[in-house]
Amino acid sequence: MSLFSTTYDVIVVGGGHAGSEAAAAAANMGAHTLLITMNLQNIAQMSCNPAMGGIAKGQIVREIDALGGYSAIVTDKTAIQFKMLNKSKGPAMWSPRAQSDRMQFAECWRTMLEQTKNLDFYQDSVNGLLFEQDKIIGVKTALGLEIKSKTVVITAGTFLNGLIHIGDKSFGGGRAGEGASKGITEDLVAKGFEAGRMKTGTPPRVDGRSLDYSKMIEQPGDENTEKFSYLPVTKNLTKQRSCWLTYTNPKVHNLLREGFERSPMFNGRIKSTGPRYCPSVEDKVNRFATKERHQIFVEPEGWTTCEMYVNGFSTSLPEDIQDKAIRAIEGFENVKFFRYGYAIEYDYFPPTQLTHSLETKLVKNLFFAGQINGTTGYEEAAAQGLMAGVNAALKVQGKDSFILKRNEAYIGVLIDDLITKGTEEPYRMFTSRAEYRTLLRQDNADLRLTPKAFELGLASKERNDRVLEKQRKTNLLIQFLEKTSVKQEEINPILEAKNLALVNQSMKLFKIAARPQLNFSDFKNVKKLNIFILDNNIDSAIIEQAEIHLKYSGYIAKEKNNADKLNRLENVMIPSQFNYQKVKSLSFEAREKLSKIQPTSISQASRISGVSPSDISVLLVYMGR
Ligand code: FAD
Repeated sequence: MSLFSTTYDVIVVGGGHAGSEAAAAAANMGAHTLLITMNLQNIAQMSCNPAMGGIAKGQIVREIDALGGYSAIVTDKTAIQFKMLNKSKGPAMWSPRAQSDRMQFAECWRTMLEQTKNLDFYQDSVNGLLFEQDKIIGVKTALGLEIKSKTVVITAGTFLNGLIHIGDKSFGGGRAGEGASKGITEDLVAKGFEAGRMKTGTPPRVDGRSLDYSKMIEQPGDENTEKFSYLPVTKNLTKQRSCWLTYTNPKVHNLLREGFERSPMFNGRIKSTGPRYCPSVEDKVNRFATKERHQIFVEPEGWTTCEMYVNGFSTSLPEDIQDKAIRAIEGFENVKFFRYGYAIEYDYFPPTQLTHSLETKLVKNLFFAGQINGTTGYEEAAAQGLMAGVNAALKVQGKDSFILKRNEAYIGVLIDDLITKGTEEPYRMFTSRAEYRTLLRQDNADLRLTPKAFELGLASKERNDRVLEKQRKTNLLIQFLEKTSVKQEEINPILEAKNLALVNQSMKLFKIAARPQLNFSDFKNVKKLNIFILDNNIDSAIIEQAEIHLKYSGYIAKEKNNADKLNRLENVMIPSQFNYQKVKSLSFEAREKLSKIQPTSISQASRISGVSPSDISVLLVYMGR
């Protein structure tokens, strides 16, 4: 059937990380979905660093996987290096990170989407939106098509009125080599939306054959690799490519300073705010003037390509300055450029204009996800895309929205932060943003979320059964450890090997195993435990869960308790369109902020900056509590 005559359930605008996950989720939930994107060759293109995961972001990728998204599978299938970051800290901080082959990543995403039922594709640029009063009913494209849909998810990334800067040159574009997107912002602003401007930047890519690695420090991947997806369809990496570490130096900094006058960052041409935690190299040199060197990680862009990503050297300085300065870095003396670094400014929509389902408050059935909401990063975008795709499909099916709480997932923290607090600079996830990080670990995303995915129809029964079995066996192992005693003759050699004080009587296994200096592998000679593990077919993932439980049960219980208390406030609902102006005992600031954000619960109201505990008490009294 022609695209003209079909009314889709869901149209997803943009095939980046948010759009790809949104399209997959909506289609997998049975919604007839159309993915419209400017260039089908660039599906899920990694605009910047060819890596997924990292601190807090790795947890998000695992959550996406547990919810039936594709990002983790694609990352595993295309990974060239794997590292578990923060392994020296507690398990709440462990964060997987993988570098991917950039070209294979996009190809693998496209293949997976093509294998998804209910999903159609169309290459064109959406340049307008079709409304019927306060409802969206479809999109208009540059080729003049009008395509109807019950819901629309916009995931336009850095493309909305994108403006690229290199030195004193500026030109329109959504990403190097691709055009900007015009028309969507204008239609939304005409409808009453508030739009803002943000910026981001990327470093040069260079020819790896022109670098001298003997002057750099090799950065290999982990010896024992892991993977992102909980599904058996992907495998741990056995072969990896190394990265390389080098440093800038005072000469590099002086050469960079020579270009400051022509820098769009410093001469006022770029006015918008960039990502605080991903500053450009000129910003680092300017802000930390006394620092003699900054790290530069040289990262391969794939298995076979010689193109290298110069991580840490993001810049929008003129090409001649980039050229001169980079050559002063050890190992870069004879460098050849593939692509220069650049900065880009783009439109975003302050996310306080959205509800928890990522639907806009102003226009029904219209959803936003990804960089358009003021976030930065593939993982943040993909997570929002999945949630918007799910919620668009649920809306079509006339069902309640799917919302994750802050104690259930980093994805819940991300969306709640965005829609409650908004963001004035590109928002990226950190573990510090989550108040329940002992609960939100990368190892238990399946236990937390796969049963929910099963209820939505995004995880198969077989997958859900596997997760339930993992939970059952974890509990079984914990019970075994709690009730089984081991004689001192068996324990003391283990303690002796670790220089720990010996015991003079038998002890329950859980008491010894909970000691921070010991881990499960130290108990490999304890007979009863070995027999139990073999008899019950206990694998390493279950042992990991039990071990974390033993060592951190105190923290876990405390966080659960706090979350329960706050969730009680989550259940004290505020009627929609509540008139805060009539509650005179609220502070002026609280009345203003609450009227703008329109929180759905007292708990959400308490997270809005400017709403004090005494304002919350007033509201509780008002709501009859
Ligand atoms: P994108 O990945 O940008 O995808 C948007 C998609 O929508 C594209 O496929 C585009 O073709 C399509 N599209 C746009 N408009 C239309 C339209 N009107 N019609 C049809 N299709 C349309 N992230 C970091 O975490 N750290 C960084 O340092 C960093 N640096 C970056 C530097 C640059 C230069 C760029 C461009 C991005 C950078 N990012 C960085 C951001 C990262 O790329 C994004 O956060 C992520 O890709 C956002 O995903 P998205 O799906 O929202 O949008």
